[in-house]
Amino acid sequence: MLAYQHAYHAGNFADVHKHLTLHIATQLLLRKESAITYVDTHAGRGSYPLAAQETRKLMEYRSGILPVWLARSALSEQDTWLSEWLGRLASAQPEADLSVYPGSPWWLATSLRKQDRLSLFELHPGEHRHLEDQTHAANTRHVHGDGMSGLRRMLPVATPRLAVLIDPSYERKEEYQEVADLVAFVAQKARHAIVLVWYPLLPAGRHHQLLESLRDQGIKKLWRSELKRGQPQESHGMYGSGMLVLNPPWGLGEALTEAMQHLTPLLGSASEHFSDWWVGE
Ligand code: SAM
Repeated sequence: MLAYQHAYHAGNFADVHKHLTLHIATQLLLRKESAITYVDTHAGRGSYPLAAQETRKLMEYRSGILPVWLARSALSEQDTWLSEWLGRLASAQPEADLSVYPGSPWWLATSLRKQDRLSLFELHPGEHRHLEDQTHAANTRHVHGDGMSGLRRMLPVATPRLAVLIDPSYERKEEYQEVADLVAFVAQKARHAIVLVWYPLLPAGRHHQLLESLRDQGIKKLWRSELKRGQPQESHGMYGSGMLVLNPPWGLGEALTEAMQHLTPLLGSASEHFSDWWVGE
């Protein structure tokens, strides 16, 4: 069953959190010359026009990227990770206004150097068709198929470095366990791989299962960043967005903390961010 379509949620606060983290991680990786294989296991469409029927239905971007975008001229006076990220977002717009929100394939494809590679996996046939129309960067491979098994088959990779984004929709509760198994597999096959995992904060608290399973499979230390927009008891739906990073590039924690200090107040007074080294004991 593949009912989820990211277009309904494009540009929401979780996208902003995820793509800002992805931006900072890739920029830090680019400080070294050695080649990187990037893998996006759940790529989505790659690009989301905000005027699309699906996106207009919930308009989640209005409480996500929109207030951040509207603050960009004030932010651009400061030399921050957030203003750099907004500069990239501006470069994705056909006109001066915000009309398109780019997905993870765009953030990755526009970071590629000639020595790097990118594999984009998308299982949904319609989403995959959109993705093929959207992303034309050199060194990029589009795969219509399961990104979980696809990534497993790719290991080990030929380049000295590997960076993976795992961003499922968590429509099935088994996906928390599947993600934990995949991270453990990657860590075993490619010890230095940088793995970024997005997860939702929901009242059911299933992300705890993901962390416990990682711990049980020998993953003892991850960088964790959580952006909350309320408390679980106040919410029926997603009240926050989480990112886990295995083997974070040097400086990620500090950079992300700085970026989130600028971002969080723009997302409303109930928003808060915390980050730490998660240690599984
Ligand atoms: N990573 C995208 C971004 O940040 O722009 C958003 C991805 S969206 C949350 C999840 C996507 O994964 C959906 O497009 C869905 O069709 C796709 N999907 C679900 N199961 C998959 C699987 N096993 N392998 C690859 N893609 C899958």
